[in-house]
Amino acid sequence: MPTKKTSSTKKTKTKKKTGTTKKAVASKKTPKPKKSTAVKAKASTKKTTSKKTTVKTKTKTATSVKKTVDKKTPVKTKRITVAKGKYYYYFGDKQADGKGTMKDLLGGKGAGLAEMSRAGIPVPPGFTITTDVCHLYYENDMEIPQKIDQDLEKYIEKIENSVGKKFGDASDPLLVSVRSGAKFSMPGMMDTVLNLGLNPESVDGLAKMTGNTRFALDNYRRFISMFGNVVLGIDKELFEKVILKKKADKRIKQDSSLQKNDLMDIVKKFKSICKRNSGEAFPDDPYVQLRMSRDAVFRSWNNPRAISYRRMHNIDSSLGTAVNIQAMVYGNMGNTSATGVGFTRNPATGDKEFYGEYLVNAQGEDVVAGIRTPQPIAKLKQELPDAFKQLKAITTRLEKHYRDVQDFEFTIQEKTLYMLQTRSGKRTVQAAIKIAVDMVKEKLITKEEALERVDPQQLDHLLHPRLDPKAKYNILAKGLPASPGAASGKVYFTAEEVVKHSGKQQTILVREETNPDDIEGMNAALGILTARGGMTSHAAVVARGMGKCCVSGAEAIRVYPRKKQFQVGKLIIKEGEVITLNGTTGDIIIGKVPTIEPELSGEFSKYMSWADENRTLKVRTNADTPRDCQQAIKFGAEGIGLCRTEHMFFAEDRIPIVQDMILADSPEERQEALDKLLKFQKKDFKEIFTAMQGKPVTIRTLDPPLHEFLPRLEEVMEKIENLDKVDDDYEEKLERLQKVIKRIDELHELNPMLGHRGCRLGIVYPEITEMQARAIIEAACELTKVKKLTVLPEIMIPLVGHINEFKNQKEVVQRVANEVIAKYKVKTLKYMIGTMIEIPRAALTADEIAEEAEFFSFGTNDLTQMTMGFSRDDAGKFLNYYVENGILPSDPFISLDQIGVGQLVSMGKEKGRSVRKDLKVGICGEHGGDPASIEFCNGVGLDYVSCSPFRVPIARLSAAQANLRVKKGTGKGRTGTE
Ligand code: ADP
Ligand code: MG
Ligand code: MG
Repeated sequence: MPTKKTSSTKKTKTKKKTGTTKKAVASKKTPKPKKSTAVKAKASTKKTTSKKTTVKTKTKTATSVKKTVDKKTPVKTKRITVAKGKYYYYFGDKQADGKGTMKDLLGGKGAGLAEMSRAGIPVPPGFTITTDVCHLYYENDMEIPQKIDQDLEKYIEKIENSVGKKFGDASDPLLVSVRSGAKFSMPGMMDTVLNLGLNPESVDGLAKMTGNTRFALDNYRRFISMFGNVVLGIDKELFEKVILKKKADKRIKQDSSLQKNDLMDIVKKFKSICKRNSGEAFPDDPYVQLRMSRDAVFRSWNNPRAISYRRMHNIDSSLGTAVNIQAMVYGNMGNTSATGVGFTRNPATGDKEFYGEYLVNAQGEDVVAGIRTPQPIAKLKQELPDAFKQLKAITTRLEKHYRDVQDFEFTIQEKTLYMLQTRSGKRTVQAAIKIAVDMVKEKLITKEEALERVDPQQLDHLLHPRLDPKAKYNILAKGLPASPGAASGKVYFTAEEVVKHSGKQQTILVREETNPDDIEGMNAALGILTARGGMTSHAAVVARGMGKCCVSGAEAIRVYPRKKQFQVGKLIIKEGEVITLNGTTGDIIIGKVPTIEPELSGEFSKYMSWADENRTLKVRTNADTPRDCQQAIKFGAEGIGLCRTEHMFFAEDRIPIVQDMILADSPEERQEALDKLLKFQKKDFKEIFTAMQGKPVTIRTLDPPLHEFLPRLEEVMEKIENLDKVDDDYEEKLERLQKVIKRIDELHELNPMLGHRGCRLGIVYPEITEMQARAIIEAACELTKVKKLTVLPEIMIPLVGHINEFKNQKEVVQRVANEVIAKYKVKTLKYMIGTMIEIPRAALTADEIAEEAEFFSFGTNDLTQMTMGFSRDDAGKFLNYYVENGILPSDPFISLDQIGVGQLVSMGKEKGRSVRKDLKVGICGEHGGDPASIEFCNGVGLDYVSCSPFRVPIARLSAAQANLRVKKGTGKGRTGTE
């Protein structure tokens, strides 16, 4: 458990060094520290993440890191015990110690390399240091226990034997890469060092051996800058600037055009940057380089970007990373060498096409970093046909083997292909659905497996609007359609600016190219635009994962972050101006373009029909208007779980009547107003019943406190001031406004949430409940009689805590219903009267209540509020802090507190059903659309969940997944079929 331990063990140390070293960053940014450290951790975050601090203090970084690898360091008294075990896993030469299923121990990359090696796929040999070592490293005060460290040479020897070169050899050196790799892939979030093992002697050796001095120096400068950045904590930009300057001086565009002498000069400058910033000479001993890099990669598990990424993707911070050390192969050896990445299917659309990009004479991250815009993989077929054929064959095989789309990395060294990574490919939700459906057709996976392949939350992205095809607009420029969807927003040029502005408005992040440091900004922006980088660039990959629209590699635009503007030809677009991106076509447009609702594909309906076959939990919707109902029906809702009648009261033509009702001095006056409202409500219900096509509709009687329908005091005062005294009806108007003020005063409550609301209103003013019952039953009778529609009204009494409250309201509803039914003579009309369970006492006495109520609907919003004692309107002040600091695992208003509030739900249901076997039970809080809460409801055995229309598909898939997990024995509770 690296993260937790460090927060306590390093506490005293970090305090002394206040935000200096990388280690400090790592340990202090530890998520979920104990309460006592929480405040400190937060306070120090700013300091530690600021680049300036890191740059200024590299001296300490380098020395403190160095110490950990210096063999002469006296043995400390504090030593942890290292259990006997296997900490190194070799792979290469068509065999491996580990295998593909060992992701926990070897990380995804290590497991993939082992699996490929076993399958006889050409993989440069290497070994993986396990995640266990990562844990030990953190536990042992950021130092690899000696017992483990001492085997490093032995495994390097294995690589040496395999490739026939020696590590650090002056004439023909073995170079290695040191690569991070956690259980779940976190693309680009952690660190990797390439070409390790070079020094002034071995670089000469490499040059002589290959007869290619340029190549040797190219490797050397790459190594120094990566080591400088990853291990010594030096800002990448310092190195990049040197290269940019050189290219500008030489008037060349491509790194690959740099000549021998240029590179020699660059190497010299890089070294002095390292020396200046770290305070020590650049280490030449390959083993010192190796140990320092290994430790830095372990530390990169806790760099700020990795921490944010894990937070965004809900990845457990205690997993730790493995380190892979692997023989280098060279894509930068000339024009028959290349490096690239690809997918076995299109990750944006899901189409079955070989998809990828490569760069000739390049290495490692060049492709994804957008340094040059890479070539589409189809071109490789012409340039290096044999390697292409082999690549296609291998990756097709990998897809079949893993039974999932593979995202792979490869390098071609003088026409020979090597695979460097394979993992299941991240994809948009469109692609995920298409691929899942296609793979079932291809008999590669089962329908049940297909249902596990899509994250329900992601379905949300599908339901977002796209550009109206009828809209007229001029395209400013075009880039690559990197991630589909459309977004309009104000442009900002740094991640920080985007984060700063996106609370209040919609923003677009515009960058030359993105890198992992931009992650927070990318998360906050609605869309991302980059001038460089291809379809597999960082921006593209991350945006697709986030379901965010992205246009990448728009070469026609020039980005000037310092001037806060970008330029297309002569046109300048400044910070804060609005643009629109169409990630489906790559179009960039000035201004805002209208959008339309999305159409759902044939694959989507097929996929969702499989979900429906596999679930028993029903999904209803919370809807108050016919429009919402239609939307929800389109998304597959099976009824309304909550129709809030008061929402109909707020319409402009109704609110004055509602106010008349509230201001009435006598029951007669009140009745007059209610009669007017009756007409409106009846019409609304007729429309809603019609839209719901015979599906059940739960209607809640009036719930909010009456003052919510009155204007604010200041508004009334202002109106009085503005009254025209010469007006004929001045007196009349004034009188009414004064009455409003009096009423506002009378209705004022100190704690309205627990005040006169819910059934308490209908009990004190039965005529309100009467009117609503009449509107519902009359609407139902008329539709049944005249239109011959089936209507299933379920009348729900809110905020019941005592059985007598329910009895009181039930009597009112029943009396009115009998009267209306007799009047219309519709004997066939079936209706139900039930209650919302949202007060803890109601859950505690659910058996009593179920004697009278025909259904329960858990109002988990209020139930959470009242059980936890958190006012929903005020909890924002501390809830974020609670969640960020691990006081609570998540926001209980978003994801149900299963242990506490959930206990009331399951107990309420059990008690209710104990007296009424066929009691219908559902939930209608926000939780009805949250996958974890849905899984809980499924496990408890509720009949349905109800959520907002746009979350209906999410709930359908979550319910199916929950059921499948129970069947497999990995989920909670039971299948609904039991
Ligand atoms: P990430 O986890 O960020 O993808 P990797 O460890 O995969 O980082 O390394 C980044 C890039 O470095 C890879 O795309 C690959 O091209 C290159 N690379 C890593 N190891 C080697 C190697 N042994 N030989 C050649 N290239 C390598
Ligand atoms: Mg990689
Ligand atoms: Mg409520």
